[in-house]
Amino acid sequence: MHNLTIAELIKGLQSKEFSSIELTQHFLDRIMTLNPAYNAVITITAENALKTAAVADKRLAAGNAPALCGVPILHKDIFCTRDVRTSCGSKMLDNFIPPYNATVVENFERDGVVVLGKTNMDEFAMGSSNETSFYGAVINPWAVDCVPGGSSGGSAAAIAARLAPGATATDTGGSIRQPAALCGITGLKPTYGRVSRWGMIAFASSLDQGGPMARTAEDCALLLHSMAGFDEKDSTCIDHEVPDYSATLGNSISGLRIGVPKEYFSEGLDVGTEQAVRVALAVLEAQGAELVEISLPNTGLSVPAYYVIAPAEASANLSRFDGVKYGYRCEDPKDLQDLYSRTRAEGFGEEVQRRILIGTYCLSAGYYDAYYGKAQQVRQLIKQDFTSAFKEIDVIMGPTCPSPAFKFGSKGDDPVAMYLEDIYTIATNLAGLPGMSVPCGMVDDKPVGLQIIGNYFDEALMLNIAHQYQQTTDWHNAVPKGIL
Ligand code: GLN
Repeated sequence: MHNLTIAELIKGLQSKEFSSIELTQHFLDRIMTLNPAYNAVITITAENALKTAAVADKRLAAGNAPALCGVPILHKDIFCTRDVRTSCGSKMLDNFIPPYNATVVENFERDGVVVLGKTNMDEFAMGSSNETSFYGAVINPWAVDCVPGGSSGGSAAAIAARLAPGATATDTGGSIRQPAALCGITGLKPTYGRVSRWGMIAFASSLDQGGPMARTAEDCALLLHSMAGFDEKDSTCIDHEVPDYSATLGNSISGLRIGVPKEYFSEGLDVGTEQAVRVALAVLEAQGAELVEISLPNTGLSVPAYYVIAPAEASANLSRFDGVKYGYRCEDPKDLQDLYSRTRAEGFGEEVQRRILIGTYCLSAGYYDAYYGKAQQVRQLIKQDFTSAFKEIDVIMGPTCPSPAFKFGSKGDDPVAMYLEDIYTIATNLAGLPGMSVPCGMVDDKPVGLQIIGNYFDEALMLNIAHQYQQTTDWHNAVPKGIL
């Protein structure tokens, strides 16, 4: 059962080939036995999962259940789950049990989706390797000495290891697409405002966006349909109709104009990765698409602009963790100042502290104009690059990351090398555009991702393109060695 896609599981559930209880128990057993080798799942909610599965089986028997009813998934531990620990990968929230569900969690609950547990992640979603988690690193199922990517590395590794057929994830600068690429699965970061951020622990509010991860585009379409939609509890959530993403998956891509930015194939891109991406583009060309070379001239400014804006927003968002309201509190504080400073020094890891320092510095009175103000101007330029490009083309494609999964510790001492992992993904977040990663090849037995960037609210088109690609290629079906 664990090798079936979500679309296939739905068929099996609806034709009563297996029940949701059987399916749920199967994945729970896999998590119990295999997860210790990957550390992808940090909380298992077996009892709740089986209860939800029993209800789902009744709804399925009644005959009018929503498509995803009875399908088990995992939630990234950044989404608040009622009565279930939500740690955001941090010691600061190791004891936090939310009294409410995030809207995304509610939406899945409405549709009868079963939650197997919560996935490991970089602390407060800051990272590209999952090495910053308080719960330890996640192992990439494709290469046990390599990182799975981050920050949604737990979700990506769990899907690659067949511990769940799908999962939720979030992307502030690449955290859905980069781990999807490094773990050989499919992941979609929707348009900013497409999916509610309510109950999703905030990192950088103007960039954060939740989205689905699964093995195929067809499965991502099903998950996104359930997740997306207007939510009055999130003031940046957009009231825009949610299309039936599955309905347009059969459309031909003949005549599609694919923009290929020359800046995405520059120095620093691994040769094998470039080759795999070029071959994938040729496959789409053979299906009738047209490749058009374009330029996004401000691409090189996206990482510097992001590393001002994201830490600035993070420093404001994380000021709430002070040992007073909830979360970690240091022992025996001398006075209020000591409570604040020791709680934060002991509760936050090194990368989170680095971001808070950068953020508060950039926002301080004397430097605001020089750093934060400037970065916001650069953000506009980056957005304009895309706006002009989309006048000529329908989608943009290139690599998701500069190279395949890297070894543990190899970028640990060099934050800038780690930040450059997201060189091709960050601009999309700054512009608020949707982006996707689709498995498109292997280099040294490690997966490579093809990135598809769409115009605002073009998720249906992107999913269709990815689906067409997956109809003629097999990369999304590859299984890591040792995973049975
Ligand atoms: N790797 C980037 C960072 O560390 C992006 C993380 C994310 O998208 N959450 O900030």
